[in-house]
Amino acid sequence: MDQAKLLVDTGATATRHGEALLFHEGLYQISRQCYAWMVPNGSWGETNIGLIDCNGKSVLVDTCWDLNFTQHMLNAMRPVIARSPIETVINTHSDGDHCWGNQLFKGREIVATRACLDQMHHTKPSALAALQHSCKALKHVPFGGMRCFSHYMEDMLAPYHFTDVQITDPTITFQHEHCLNINGKDFVLYEVGPGHTSGDAIVYVPDESVVYAGDIAFIGSTPVMWSGPLENLVAGLQKLLSLNANIMVPGHGPLASRNDIQNIIDYWHFVHEHIHALYQQDMLPHEAASKVMRSKTFLHSPYAKWSCAERMVTNAFTLYRHWGAKLKSLPEPIGTLDILRKQALVSQDVSPLLSA
Ligand SMILES: [Zn+2]
Repeated sequence: MDQAKLLVDTGATATRHGEALLFHEGLYQISRQCYAWMVPNGSWGETNIGLIDCNGKSVLVDTCWDLNFTQHMLNAMRPVIARSPIETVINTHSDGDHCWGNQLFKGREIVATRACLDQMHHTKPSALAALQHSCKALKHVPFGGMRCFSHYMEDMLAPYHFTDVQITDPTITFQHEHCLNINGKDFVLYEVGPGHTSGDAIVYVPDESVVYAGDIAFIGSTPVMWSGPLENLVAGLQKLLSLNANIMVPGHGPLASRNDIQNIIDYWHFVHEHIHALYQQDMLPHEAASKVMRSKTFLHSPYAKWSCAERMVTNAFTLYRHWGAKLKSLPEPIGTLDILRKQALVSQDVSPLLSA
């Protein structure tokens, strides 16, 4: 975070999930005209957002998971957006924590990949609001891991309010690559998905040597691959390294160095190698993830220090799907929730080893 200057400190004394802060929450100036709204420590919904001042107009990269946090962020951005109002929003992908605040930008230009738009309505805010509500009851169901699952989901979603969120679609979509010029400032949007989701993009601002990576990059927490294939996700990370970017803003966590991006690539190679060996022994994906996470090799690796290690369960399921495993699949969104239930159970089992 040395390259960044904290312009507006929100004064938060703990993360939204109640953890000790690893960096300050607020608006950082990261180059001459590029800014980042950085939310510690980068766990669920603690999403970083980009802001680029284009001399009288601004571009926002992503919006927050709900309207309260989006408004809170806009208040902190006032020193920049008072002189350069936000006229363009770019969504790096369709996860709610990157686009559910779009509603506050209705009528303005919103840019995303076509695949991002296609996926944007797969999870409904009303479904997450209902889940928040039902977690209270599920906590009393004494079987099927429901107690563990409901605690896991309740903690994940606790800071957020979804009832008033209406998904607001991008107005411009693209495939492969899209160039924008806003008041003379160039942007290059590269589609790097499917990988983390089906429509990931990264946003490069060449004359500032800045790239906003979205969720192909998590720093300090375990990356997650909802869509895959892994080859694309790794190619997206390599694309980040190939750009002439001194400053890389990840979707979650502190600013990334080139080394940090290489560590994520190494994590994916590690996961591929170890999960694949167990896949070949016909082990189920969540059992394979659990076994890898309990192994000495993992516990002595740098990845054991990243938060949310249990995301390896989701990663294993995605890998298995791409390897052609015949897994019993439930209709969405139940299928994803069932994977998260298994993830919650693995987390409960493995976390004592990780904190040891
Ligand atoms: Zn995210």
